[in-house]
Amino acid sequence: MDQEMLQRALAHGRRFVRYGKPASYIPELASKDPSKLGLAVCDMKGNIQTVGNCEDKFTMQSISKVIALILALEQNGFDNVFSKVGLEPTGDSFNSTVRLDHLTNNKPFNPMINAGAIAVTSTIRGGSLEERKKISIEFARKITGNPDLDVDYEVFRSEAETGFKNRAIIYLMRSNGIIEGSCEEHLELYFLFCSLACSCRDLSVFAATLANNGVNPLTGEQLIQPHTVKLVRSLMVTCGMYDYSGEFAATVGLPSKSGVGGGIISCAIGQYGLATYGPALDDKGNSIGGLKMLEYLSEEMDLSIF
Ligand code: GLU
Repeated sequence: MDQEMLQRALAHGRRFVRYGKPASYIPELASKDPSKLGLAVCDMKGNIQTVGNCEDKFTMQSISKVIALILALEQNGFDNVFSKVGLEPTGDSFNSTVRLDHLTNNKPFNPMINAGAIAVTSTIRGGSLEERKKISIEFARKITGNPDLDVDYEVFRSEAETGFKNRAIIYLMRSNGIIEGSCEEHLELYFLFCSLACSCRDLSVFAATLANNGVNPLTGEQLIQPHTVKLVRSLMVTCGMYDYSGEFAATVGLPSKSGVGGGIISCAIGQYGLATYGPALDDKGNSIGGLKMLEYLSEEMDLSIF
């Protein structure tokens, strides 16, 4: 991609960051500098181009729901995972009170909302909790092509200390049989996923792996089966951007996932993996500068899958 194009996208995004603010539910996120903005693009040959604050570290938060889903599907298969979670968008906002009524009798709507991701995470196997954590971190390292990728343990602690709603959700799902085994252990793994610390560069490789039908373009390794990639990308289109997913499909048109840490990944299938970082979020929980950069690039380069 033309480096000038990236610069122009960054300049465009910068005009909007002042209209957003960082997530405030834990101090580690609230204290992030809202003016930060970065963009990384990885092509199918593994060439990475970056602009702005692309080496800044931030936590994946909900972007990790995609990694957890892939790992769960690769370990357990479609039928097992989707016996616990559906494939339908909710239209609920990222911080809405969970529709607990739906959880009492039914499965959570999809793997991109907290309830669904917690149910998915509960299926990730390993001999012990420590083993499950190790397998999960190793998988995240492979998929981002970064052998040093690790957990931000301050964020992890804060998530675990304040995650009362997630605790309520999992116990409700335990009561109706969706969750088996130790709720506290599953939650610990879920919070660990949320707290994976990464840069735009790392996430661009992850997005490129999805855009490249599961082959990590840095290593050439087939990490995800093509049918899993297809399924995951479809869920990213319908549910990846909280209750902005519909408008995002119309304005950007790329399978994407955002997290309240300020990251967004986007897949231009067969072309690029894109990753943006900007902790200033809009009222739907999406990085405002990230959205604007993706809108710009999609428009200028005609990237929409539609
Ligand atoms: N750690 C957050 C939670 O579980 C993730 C939220 C998000 O990125 O949407 O509530």
